[in-house]
Parts: sequence; C-alpha cells; structure tokens
Amino acid sequence: MTAAGPLADSFGRVMRDVRISVTDRCNFRCMYCLPETEEAANFYRTKFDHAKNPAPATLIAREWKPRSQLLTFEEIERVMRILVSLGIEKVRVTGGEPLLRHGLETLIAKLARIEGVRDLAMTTNGFLFPQKAEALRAAGLRRISFSLDSLEPANFKKMTGRDGLREVLAGIALAKRLGLAPVKVNAVVIRGINDHELEALAGFARREDLSFRFIEFMPLDSGRVWLKELVVPGREILQRLQARYELKPVLSQNVAETARRWSFSDGRGEIGIIAPVTEPFCGHCNRLRLTADGKIRTCLFSLTEHDLKPLLRGGANDEQIADKLRCIVWQKEERHHIGEPDFVQPERTMSCIGG
Ligand code: SAM
Ligand code: SF4
Repeated sequence: MTAAGPLADSFGRVMRDVRISVTDRCNFRCMYCLPETEEAANFYRTKFDHAKNPAPATLIAREWKPRSQLLTFEEIERVMRILVSLGIEKVRVTGGEPLLRHGLETLIAKLARIEGVRDLAMTTNGFLFPQKAEALRAAGLRRISFSLDSLEPANFKKMTGRDGLREVLAGIALAKRLGLAPVKVNAVVIRGINDHELEALAGFARREDLSFRFIEFMPLDSGRVWLKELVVPGREILQRLQARYELKPVLSQNVAETARRWSFSDGRGEIGIIAPVTEPFCGHCNRLRLTADGKIRTCLFSLTEHDLKPLLRGGANDEQIADKLRCIVWQKEERHHIGEPDFVQPERTMSCIGG
C-alpha cells in the first residue's frame, strides 16, 4: 500500500469515482429494490419453488436510519474534499431517493464548489424532480439519471409501487429543457415483468434523444427474492434491440464504463447495456460508495463496511482520514461472486447502499 498518492487497491485499480448516498428512505417500492408491496409479493410467490426456497419477505415494516446517524452536509463535503485530494474526479449523489433529503441543493452547491470535481451527477426516481429542478440546476447539478422501467402506467405502478409515470416523464422533459444533458434513464429488466417493453423503451430513448441504460437485475433487493431466472442477460437484450433497430457501437468508450453503448443509425439517442451478472466488469472497477450513515463500501457486494463516522466525529484530522481511506481501498474485493456457490448477498440492500 502506498503511504501517499492516489487511492489504489491491491489489484492495481485506481479509484476515480464515488457514489454518495444521502438517505436510505424512498417514496417508491421498486420490485427489484424494495419489493414490499402486495403486487410484488404476488409476482415473486409464483416464481418460488416452495420446496426449495423460503417464501419471499413481503410488506416489511421498514425502519429508516434516524437523522442523527446520517452524515451532515458538512461531513459529506469534508469526505469529498479528501477524496478529491486523493484522485476522485466523479461524484454521483444517490440514495434511497436523494430528493427526499431536505435541502439537497445546499449539498449540491457545496460539492459543485470543490475544485477537482469534474463530474457532478445525481440518480433519482424523478417523482419529486419537477419541484426541485431549478434549485438543483442553480446549485450546480450538471447531469442527472432517472429510473424508468416501464412506459405503461399500470406496469409502472406494479414495478414501483407508485402511480407516478406522469410525474417521472414530466421530470425527464424538464431535465432536458434545463440542459442537464445528456439526460440518462435507467431501466432494470425483470423477466416476466417489463421485458416485453424493451423495444418500446429503446424507441422512447430515440424519440426523446436520451441516453438509455438497460440494467440486469442484481441480488440486492430487500426481500431477497432475486432469482437467476428473472435476469434477462445483456446479450439477449441486445439481440432483441438489434432485431428492431439499426444500432452502431459507440467507439469512444473508456474501459471503466459499466455500460456497453450503441447509438441509433440516425444519431438521436443512445442505448447502453449494463450486465454485471452475466458479463462482470470488476476488473476495471474504479468506484467507491459512501453510505448515508458514513460507511465506505468498496463494492456493491461487499460484506464489510468501513465506518468513517467515528473519525469524522472524533476529531481526526484530514490526513488521518486520508490514511484510513487508502487503507480501506487497498482491501477492495477483486470481484463479485454472483451466481457462484459461495455467493453471499450483503446484509444491506441497494436502497441503503446507494445504487
Ligand atoms: N432512488 C433513486 C433511483 O431509483 O434512481 C436512486 C437510488 S437507486 C438504488 C439507484 C439505481 O439502482 C437505480 O437506477 C435502480 O434502478 C438501481 N437498482 C436498484 N435495485 C437494483 C437491483 N436489484 N438490480 C439492479 N439495479 C438496481
Ligand atoms: Fe427507491 Fe430507487 Fe430503490 Fe426504486 S430503485 S425503491 S426508487 S431507491
């Protein structure tokens, strides 16, 4: 491990990208993340072989982290300044649903002022975006990703637990008007739920000139209902879309990108496929995560978290925190083990980790 210099791990990967979760709360109940609605329970029940698998947990009475355990904006800003001094260039604010964090624009303004942040983005379900958009843009937000898994109102409600398609579409349109370009949209694909919408979603990307990402369903849901059979492999998604659209590979991709990208022949819009389950990209991973309660995770699938709060609240100086970060990153896992017999799903789920 180097005593100074950038954040490198023991496999030679250098960290450049951090995702900061600002809350574990959410106003949606997505079937792949917080599958805690009756509809989600009914769907998954049909998929489980009860002789082998326990019934999925449903309708969990959720307990959110108390405010006192969440990092303050000042604490997040401090960690980010230290991370930037160690070579981090990209930051994405996420959650839970980040727009539920009161005064989020204040944090965005703090992060935007840090010299060395090349890319400041946010991932949101978009439901509250129209209410906060102008303030976030004025605070310095430059890029945004929305989650949108369905264009059919009833299916949207089934997938997210919320009757909110109209609001999310309005949010996407507003982001385009505000120049948060390129507007990105993510869809998690679940076999038997929204895979019949692949072509329609790609058509939407082309019509609206969006950068659309199809994501494989990962075992990070709160109900532990993930099953391999529900994953639509990236290869299959691509074949389906190629059968409908003329797609050209985007050549300017950098190796650390998680998505393989294609543009439409007429140049409007783009699709990307993120296939962490069937085509892992761990070898190029340069990403860290900071949870809302101050834990560093070196992988989505980490079984260990590293708590920065005792240092942040216990009087440690920046150099001590930087040393701790170097030490944590050195231990970054080589790869995930999804689908292998030794795979263990992390205790905390996507909404708590920050996707
Ligand atoms: N609430 C915001 C949203 O939905 O965009 C931000 C947080 S959400 C956890 C971030 C991203 O994680 C979303 O794009 C969502 O689709 C993705 N995600 C959540 N659970 C997932 C899973 N089990 N597999 C793959 N992606 C998942
Ligand atoms: Fe909430 Fe985002 Fe998870 Fe959906 S994916 S339940 S919007 S945190």
